[in-house]
Amino acid sequence: MRIDLHTHSTASDGTDTPAELVRHAAEAGLDVVALTDHDTTRGYAEAIAALPEGLTLVTGAELSCRVDGISMHLLAYLFDPEEPALLAERELVRDDRVPRAKGMVAKLNALGVPVTWEQVSRIAGGGSVGRPHVASALVELGVVPSVDEAFTEDWLADGGRAHVEKHETDPFEAVRLVKAAGGVTVFAHPAASKRGRTVPESTIAELAAAGLDGIEVDHMDHDPGTRARLRGLAQELGLLTTGSSDYHGSRKTCVLGEYTTDPEVYGEITRRATGAFPVPGTGGV
Ligand code: AMP
Ligand code: ZN
Ligand code: FE
Ligand code: FE
Repeated sequence: MRIDLHTHSTASDGTDTPAELVRHAAEAGLDVVALTDHDTTRGYAEAIAALPEGLTLVTGAELSCRVDGISMHLLAYLFDPEEPALLAERELVRDDRVPRAKGMVAKLNALGVPVTWEQVSRIAGGGSVGRPHVASALVELGVVPSVDEAFTEDWLADGGRAHVEKHETDPFEAVRLVKAAGGVTVFAHPAASKRGRTVPESTIAELAAAGLDGIEVDHMDHDPGTRARLRGLAQELGLLTTGSSDYHGSRKTCVLGEYTTDPEVYGEITRRATGAFPVPGTGGV
């Protein structure tokens, strides 16, 4: 069984539509794929409608969180998408992304970059708007050669010249909200240091005590030494460990199924979840 528990579609900052994403997941030989768009569930319906036979969809989201001034991402799986408290929190974060993106456009304009909100909004195409969309606009304008190169101090990295913070949820609150909605939580790329400051192990321990289910270990932004350290930490804290591609279509270099999750861990996630069930593909019948 090949299981990839972290992917993005055009519902946030991926470049595959949800339908394309599930088709590509089947072509990549995956048995299970999780759709985890940033702060939104709006890709679910399209992904389910297009789900190929033999592929199972795990519904999820990647929630934007911040603790002690450090941004972090929390993967949430198989929660009830209609549960009002978690829904309200997702909306709060997602809605704040719009004025925040406009703020980054204004900062870029002040730096002499002729980017417009219309351009960023077109690139986002109605999806949960984020820095990768602004980064794509900078690539279009020839300001930087690639999306990755927009994530520097000069431009959009945390604390960079054109960076603006958005509302982000306290992760202890997010863990509580996801649990109350029947879902399971996994701390995404907890040691991805190239993205900015990362939270200390003590915070991961506190999150574990507060009900966090697992940490993502096998991820492109973790080197082998980091993975070994995280695996040890997970064992110490009784946390599940996952692996996933964090696929973003053409906006990032990773491919579907580049890293995968142990079927036993996947089984445990589905056993713990009560808010939703994995959706088996019927080939659109
Ligand atoms: P946002 O949620 O709008 O703050 O954007 C965060 C997203 O930007 C992450 O989910 C990544 O997809 C992307 N990102 C963050 N840091 C980097 C980086 N250093 N290089 C490339 N992409 C990044
Ligand atoms: Zn992303
Ligand atoms: Fe992330
Ligand atoms: Fe992600």
